[in-house]
Amino acid sequence: MRYISTRGQAPELTFGEAMLTGLARDGGLYVPAQIPQWSHDDIKALAGLSYEDVAYRVMQPFCGETFSDAELKEAIAKAYAGFGHAARAPIKQLAPNHFLLELFHGPTLAFKDFAMQIIGQLFQIALAKEGRKITIVGATSGDTGSAAIEAFRGLDNVDVFILFPHGRVSDVQRRQMTTPIEDNVHALALDGDFDDCQGKLKDMFNHFEFRDAVGLAGVNSINWARVLAQVVYYFTAAVTLGAPDRKISFTVPTGNFGDIFAGYIAKSMGLPIDQLVIATNQNDILHRCLTTGRYEMDGVKASISPSMDIQISSNFERALFMAYGQDGAAVTQLMDELKTTGGFTVSQGALEALREIYASGRVSEDQTSAQIKDELVRSGELLCPHSAIGVHVADQHLGAVPMVTLATAHPAKFPDAVEAATGIRPALPERMGDLFDRPERVTRVPNDLSALEALIQERRRV
Ligand SMILES: *Cc1c(COP(=O)(O)O)cnc(C)c1O
Repeated sequence: MRYISTRGQAPELTFGEAMLTGLARDGGLYVPAQIPQWSHDDIKALAGLSYEDVAYRVMQPFCGETFSDAELKEAIAKAYAGFGHAARAPIKQLAPNHFLLELFHGPTLAFKDFAMQIIGQLFQIALAKEGRKITIVGATSGDTGSAAIEAFRGLDNVDVFILFPHGRVSDVQRRQMTTPIEDNVHALALDGDFDDCQGKLKDMFNHFEFRDAVGLAGVNSINWARVLAQVVYYFTAAVTLGAPDRKISFTVPTGNFGDIFAGYIAKSMGLPIDQLVIATNQNDILHRCLTTGRYEMDGVKASISPSMDIQISSNFERALFMAYGQDGAAVTQLMDELKTTGGFTVSQGALEALREIYASGRVSEDQTSAQIKDELVRSGELLCPHSAIGVHVADQHLGAVPMVTLATAHPAKFPDAVEAATGIRPALPERMGDLFDRPERVTRVPNDLSALEALIQERRRV
């Protein structure tokens, strides 16, 4: 399987190359040149298999040239062994024909563990083969950083540095980043906000001398390997509820569009997905775009669902590439316009193609809190704010087809918002109960590129 860039100007790569590269050299994102097609019988054969077995079958056609069957199976087994639920992604029923897919049983209690845990294993195998070492630097507003640290802690060929905005992540999020004891893990609290963290990261990638000297690599949500790992749970959920013999719909709390794009890939492979619904918070650039055809930046408003507080949605570029019939030149033009003018208008044909696949809804802060409170009465479930946004939008799209809402984080990861809505402070799962007793290890860093680069050079284990 070859991977092509959404901007059409970068070399085609293998899965392994695309995984280690992240962003394409023309600024685009990698997508598979063709999507494997599964028959009704292929999908039916997934019934009753373990999560790991389904993961192997779904991922193998995409990465089989890079990893042997034994390597892939072992990576998958290790990736999900630390999850706190035997089903990995269990389903609960909320209401007639409405189901919740719980994606928060991984080590950091958010769905990002599904992808990050497996890419930690795959990076390790790929690097060992090539005798290479890399330095992963990531910027996080909370969930990505802890998921990356959990995935890469203790691995031989990788140092991981995570930049987070000092004083602006929740206590649980911070402690998940600062309490791991392995010496390849480095939590850096930057004096600035999330945009400053992302800006410094970008500057490091553009400073080629530094980039090459430390073997800089990224694991942010545009990495194709992350999208691929998320395709798996669309299959396990749909098959559990009767696919391929009946259609299933999904609603996905969405920020950078990685999770919902994985649903699109599942659908393109042949999974009978009826509706694929984007749920946004008040940062609703995706909902506005689907509604009006105009994609326009509007500043970020801080919300009680911070993992969805985005100004632009980076993986949406992949959806545009598909909607424009894989026309890299057209996508390049849109992205240039976004950069220079802060927005663009989607062509009528592409907008119709997007609306064929995706529906959307937006949820206000008050509606999010009300949904958390009402859900406790309706089904007894305590939802995190992101999941509540999904459930709220899904309720507006219910019909004859079973609806699955993705629950993207555990309520205990956002205890303040949940307590404000319900009066109940959600407890951490038993296995993480001592998080607040573990010692923290963190370095405060100034918002200064050369100081940061010097620190990384000095700390990484060569
Ligand atoms: C990252 C995240 C999201 C958004 O996922 P995308 O793939 O960026 O759309 C939603 N909820 C939670 C809890 C997250 O951590």
